[in-house]
Amino acid sequence: MDSLGLYISIPFCRSKCSYCNFASGVYPVSALPGYINRLCEDLQGARMRAEEQQAVLPRRVDSIYLGGGTPSILPPELLQRLFAEIHRQFRVAPSAEITIECAPGQMEDAFLEGMLACGVNRVSFGVQSFINREGAVTGRLHNREIAIRDVARVLAAGVASVNVDLIAGLPYQTMESWKESLETLISTGANHASIYMLEVDEDSRLGRELMSSGGRYHAAAVPDDEAMADMYLAAIDFLQEQGIEQYEISNFARPGAESRHNLRYWQRQPYLGVGVDAHSMLIGKDARSIRLAIADDLSDYLEAPRDPVVVHLSEVEQMEEEWFLGLRLAKGVSLGALTRQYGGERVSAFRPLLSELLDEKLLEKYAGRLRLTSRGRLISNDVFARFIAETSEQPANTQLISVV
Ligand code: SF4
Repeated sequence: MDSLGLYISIPFCRSKCSYCNFASGVYPVSALPGYINRLCEDLQGARMRAEEQQAVLPRRVDSIYLGGGTPSILPPELLQRLFAEIHRQFRVAPSAEITIECAPGQMEDAFLEGMLACGVNRVSFGVQSFINREGAVTGRLHNREIAIRDVARVLAAGVASVNVDLIAGLPYQTMESWKESLETLISTGANHASIYMLEVDEDSRLGRELMSSGGRYHAAAVPDDEAMADMYLAAIDFLQEQGIEQYEISNFARPGAESRHNLRYWQRQPYLGVGVDAHSMLIGKDARSIRLAIADDLSDYLEAPRDPVVVHLSEVEQMEEEWFLGLRLAKGVSLGALTRQYGGERVSAFRPLLSELLDEKLLEKYAGRLRLTSRGRLISNDVFARFIAETSEQPANTQLISVV
């Protein structure tokens, strides 16, 4: 693989949404210049660090993704400094997909101009809901009107591709309000949608409240699992009717508008991540995959940077990833391709599990491949865990770093 994806983490937000479990926070804006300096230093040192790990770091970059956090709060001059460093260290392909995550209502004209000057051609908006009450109770700072206006602004400015994120399962959401959000998404002209189901875990305030009790974050108004699953399935049908096809568990696009950067994650193509909580996947000179993870604490990153956690994957771990990342894609996994890459014996070790999953109607055969059924997609994390359990008896050189 002779090209690279670049992920840049900007973990700064203006407020913390109640459902958010990312390593983002409300940090002083005065920390931004120092943070961009650190990112530039990491970009400068990337080749040396790759060499230390015996990893190949392609010079050609064909996708860049600025995620967060809220990268659209960056002052344009800092954005330009960052892109200048990227161009110094790498050769960005003229056709590269360059995405920035933006929060509606937090994208000034100067930022919009600055990002266009940096070559940004894809914007991903964290809308989550077009219903004002649902946005307000989760701490979003925009309303429906602002979200619609900002999608229109970037399309009018000539940005080729726009994604809108929505979450199924927000407090007070109903099937009716969910359909209204989906219809509004279509009316904006966005050509890509990411549909997530609310995650309940200890890393968000709403998640903690759902697991314990309390009324501060409206946990009691969160739809139950069945209603959430119905919303997700309704989104698949509705978006398909509108010509926006599901190509991954959470991602939908008009033909040709699939996120090339995110496809790298699921297809196990190399990417370099820099910044707080950024992950990388590089290919070693011995052709084995290497995963690197940067710690998720901003002050550590700025003041006492630690070496990333590095894991050289065994062949067994690589195969596990082939399954649980490849099955995220609607087209699924080709047994033939896996056999060619890893050999028949390795692939055969999974046959009993594959038979079980086919019998349970969680997997299905399609055009010579295996893919999740719609029921399998609903409980995909449980399905993926079974691929890891399958090989846990086999020798593995170290623990798996979480991916994407
Ligand atoms: S959901 Fe997005 S905008 Fe809200 S706190 Fe998390 S990263 Fe920031």
